[in-house]
Amino acid sequence: MELRQGSVAGVGMSPSCRFCGAPLEHVFVDLGSSPLANSYLSLDRAAAMEPFYPLRALVCGSCFLVQLEEFESPQQIFSDYAYFSSYSASWLEHCRRYTEQVAASLDLGRASHVVEIASNDGYLLQYFQERGIPVMGVEPATNVAEVALAKGIPTRVAFFGRGVARSLAVERRADLLLGNNVLAHVPDLNDFVAGMKILLAPGGTITMEFPHLMRLMQDAQWDTIYHEHFSYFSFITVSRVFAAHGLRLFDVEELSTHGGSLRVYGAHHDDAGKPDTARALQMREREREAGYERLDTYLSYGARVEADKRRILEFLIAIKDEGRRMVGYGAPAKGNTLLNYCGVRRDFLDYTVDANPHKQGRLLPGSHIPILPPLAIEEDRPDVVVILPWNLKDEIVRQLSFVSQWGGRLAARTPELALL
Ligand SMILES: [Zn+2]
Repeated sequence: MELRQGSVAGVGMSPSCRFCGAPLEHVFVDLGSSPLANSYLSLDRAAAMEPFYPLRALVCGSCFLVQLEEFESPQQIFSDYAYFSSYSASWLEHCRRYTEQVAASLDLGRASHVVEIASNDGYLLQYFQERGIPVMGVEPATNVAEVALAKGIPTRVAFFGRGVARSLAVERRADLLLGNNVLAHVPDLNDFVAGMKILLAPGGTITMEFPHLMRLMQDAQWDTIYHEHFSYFSFITVSRVFAAHGLRLFDVEELSTHGGSLRVYGAHHDDAGKPDTARALQMREREREAGYERLDTYLSYGARVEADKRRILEFLIAIKDEGRRMVGYGAPAKGNTLLNYCGVRRDFLDYTVDANPHKQGRLLPGSHIPILPPLAIEEDRPDVVVILPWNLKDEIVRQLSFVSQWGGRLAARTPELALL
């Protein structure tokens, strides 16, 4: 039995690609074992058994989709999702600007219909509704959907796929069908994209935002890999997935959100009114030149991640050896990947803080680092505050400027973990 790194041999039956069905034979990166990144623990569960699952990303040698295997049911993962979009000010601003831009460019009005998949607590649809544009949200997490309904945003509690698409299409198809940070979270990718084909009105437009695999690889954003996040897309591969379901991605924008995302624009494949833009052609060409259609590009990534882990531990150990006290800021999923992969617990970070009241008073999964309200930092005056959601670094650095009053320092991954 061969057990060298980069091969899935010796660890059970070979899984198959979530998109094309080819056997998955290549490891992209192995982050060990981790609990679900959003399973924040209440204090009374601190001594209970905690389920850990392999956190290992594979790459398909045929279509180059980077993906995780499915170890836990989506219902289990998303049933009590603690993430409420409305809590990040910069994200809300991003959504407001998007709404303004897309409502103008697609000429949306009272006769239009906008459907958002994974509409969360209605954080984005509220901006369309303010403009008098009819909306419908689809959201799988009951507790989150209830918040949207209470705000008066029509919401269907369901996992999106062919079934939901057919039932919604009977009432009304979508002139704008959008989904932000959902495509990567979809276990049954083909059912999901096929559902979009069904729900999109003739001449309608799809927009989807998701983290760009090129940023994950070039900027060492491996901490954005976690169990809830099943797929990691290049523009070439995502275009292939949509094409297989009769949809054509005709335009793409690069965004700075989540460390570097793509916003793709899709249409029915035969929609002559939406020819491929120069941006779409250029992006595919850039990815091709950077090696995203060659397996060896993907196979070299794991060694870089292991080196990163050693550098992160060196940084943390040096601070502790100087006798300085260190805490975290934020309790994002990516923080949990990093802390669990590196084996960082309260031996390094006394606690972390988070503005989301649903996370306060709980423990981070795996590391069991307690989550306190942000005020704790002012009262406690730690020497170093490690910003875990590095994608919101600029906003958080402004909020934490007071730390310098007592000589405290901030640290974040940029991509190396370092003092700012
Ligand atoms: Zn594949």
